[in-house]
Amino acid sequence: MESFKNLEKICQNVLSDSSLKDNALIELITQSICQALNKEKEENLKKNLLKFCHNLNNQGFFSGTSGNLSIRASSNPNEILITPSAVNKGELILDDIIKVNLEGDKIQGHREPTSEIKMHLWIYQKREDIGAIVHAHPPFATGFAAAGRSLDQEVLPEAILVLGKVPLVEYATPSTWELPQNLDQYLKEHNSFLLANHGALTLGENIEQASHRMETLELFAKVILIARILGGEKLLTKEQLDKLSKIHP
Ligand SMILES: [Zn+2]
Repeated sequence: MESFKNLEKICQNVLSDSSLKDNALIELITQSICQALNKEKEENLKKNLLKFCHNLNNQGFFSGTSGNLSIRASSNPNEILITPSAVNKGELILDDIIKVNLEGDKIQGHREPTSEIKMHLWIYQKREDIGAIVHAHPPFATGFAAAGRSLDQEVLPEAILVLGKVPLVEYATPSTWELPQNLDQYLKEHNSFLLANHGALTLGENIEQASHRMETLELFAKVILIARILGGEKLLTKEQLDKLSKIHP
């Protein structure tokens, strides 16, 4: 991995060295190496995306062909790698992943992108800091979304730190622009959402973070439900929250 990074740096230096500008052969060779490195990087991103698809699928977060995941391509922030429609997440292979630009035009792939692609495009356009998105239907979090309950109770330190407050986004017809439009008012301040009568959505700098948020959201929903069966959750006090924010500002 270190030699991979070094090679990438050497290529960038050669391409920006004005004294070598006129040497067409060096430029051609360097560009070819850069392209090969980018291809390798993209393959690794796809493998990672697949790993988290399978992992969340094994936890029962997708049923049938539902749910969708995407990653911003590292070589070009205006391109994303996204899961296709109508394929079970447990059966997804590398070749199924599609590359599109931020306008939604397909650049690579033999399948059609997820029907929720509008939501993914909207988020990447509005939030430059976001590198990955996970949309799933985990049963406990979706139960809260179906009951019209948000998950913004300050109860568990880990949930506060990983998720923050989780708003309930008003219902919208799936796959339409209505969905990202309803999401928009929460998008600046939040990275985890419940979609009313639908499911859950988490964002992250990378797929590890987006996926971790989805797992934490599902666990949090489960814990709150159990706490309510046992008489109701006890909120952290202001003093406890102040202490927590000092440790993890
Ligand atoms: Zn959905």
